[in-house]
Amino acid sequence: MKPRVRFAPSPTGYLHIGGARTALWNWLYARRLGGTFVLRIEDTDQERSTPESVQAILDGLTWLGIDWDEGPGKGGPFPPYFQMEKIKRYHEIADQLIAAGKAYRDYTTEEETAKMRLDFAASKGLTEKDDLRKAGFKYSSPWRENTDKLDRPFVIRFKLQPKGEKIGFEDLVHGRLEKPDEDLDDFVLLRTDGIPLYNFGCVIDDHDMEISHVGRGQEHINSTYSQIAVYQALGWTPPVFTHFPLIMGQNGEKLSKRKHPEADVMAHKRAGILPHALLNFVARLGWSHGNDELFTREQMVAFFDLKDVGKTNGVWNPEKLLSINAHWLKTLPPAEVAAAVLPYLEHVGVTDAKVDARLELAVKAFGPRAKTLVDMAASIKPYYANAVTMDPAAAAKHLDAPGKEMLKLAKAKLLAMPEWTSAALEPIVDQLALETGAKKGAIAQPIRVAATGGTTSPGIGDTLAMLGRDETMRRIDAALGT
Ligand code: GLU
Repeated sequence: MKPRVRFAPSPTGYLHIGGARTALWNWLYARRLGGTFVLRIEDTDQERSTPESVQAILDGLTWLGIDWDEGPGKGGPFPPYFQMEKIKRYHEIADQLIAAGKAYRDYTTEEETAKMRLDFAASKGLTEKDDLRKAGFKYSSPWRENTDKLDRPFVIRFKLQPKGEKIGFEDLVHGRLEKPDEDLDDFVLLRTDGIPLYNFGCVIDDHDMEISHVGRGQEHINSTYSQIAVYQALGWTPPVFTHFPLIMGQNGEKLSKRKHPEADVMAHKRAGILPHALLNFVARLGWSHGNDELFTREQMVAFFDLKDVGKTNGVWNPEKLLSINAHWLKTLPPAEVAAAVLPYLEHVGVTDAKVDARLELAVKAFGPRAKTLVDMAASIKPYYANAVTMDPAAAAKHLDAPGKEMLKLAKAKLLAMPEWTSAALEPIVDQLALETGAKKGAIAQPIRVAATGGTTSPGIGDTLAMLGRDETMRRIDAALGT
């Protein structure tokens, strides 16, 4: 059986790095085994869910190249893929559970619940702010055994029937996880407004969507016990669970949206990280394949297995991310990097660049030096922008009278050049050196300063090829003052 896995984000903000890793690992697992990767939007938290966040999640996944087989914009055999469009189905299942005596309508008001907690706290000499659960408080509804239907607001609660046994599951990473069934309480399935809570909606959807493997963060382990109870009550087979380790920030705290700007996937896009580099880095946060640090997309797909996920938390390491990024900037096919750098060039005002031999040449020339696409765009910009920013010191030194004489000779040679490629252009410095007896530096530097405004650039062939014939001539003329 081919696995069916899912990523089920709540759209309450941008795509978080932890979410991206969950999506990636599930996606890799599906892709390796020819399975299906489902995207489901768990938008039942109506106060916090927004359409902008849905879009941010879709954009983040799309930028990363994590494509979903079923879900928003794609459809699929088990719609809808937004929980808020599925309310009727949740009610249907809740009614089934009530009819079977496995759930009940609880008319207890919030004030009454608060009073129960207060009374309990007072009886123990505690306040309501203390951890009452730990002190033995267990909510017990007066409506548990009452099947009356009243015209009053109610929540629907799961009716736990502890047998004094353990409730648990086999986790692919943690092995058997279990706890006494008495430790669970009658959790809410549907709120007063009829909207399901996570533990209910999630089970129904994972079942309806025929999800075979659920991989998610370990902060959900406690929820999984409650979910197992729902599966049992409905007579459904639970999927295989894997709980992923946490991702810690550099300060040793869990990477959180509030405290760590790097938790935002799109912050890395803005900083000029290649999506592939971010995936490569994130894949390794809690998973390893020997000591390998660098993976192509194909290698990640070939090597990843849920059962190899570790228990040790991953730690954010910005230097490592940058070095992985630098590696892929110089290693990925130039056309791919050229396409990736285009928006960054546009951002710095270069509007005439496109993915062509010229830009690929620039990518090859600057790839080995750049750490980010932002750096790379800054290095490439002078080769596209119409006006050169001339460094006055460089001009004074290299565009003096002898420099300009040399530049005129170079111009004549360049005008006669039959083809404008790095290979054809590179030898002109040597040829002029032979013809004039001048030192190579005295030839190359005036050309370089005229062409780029400064004294450092790749080889003359690459430099002029990147500029193109017309722009080179314009800049040489400008430097010559003609
Ligand atoms: N909506 C839940 C979350 O974003 C999904 C957890 C799960 O994968 O079951 O945390």
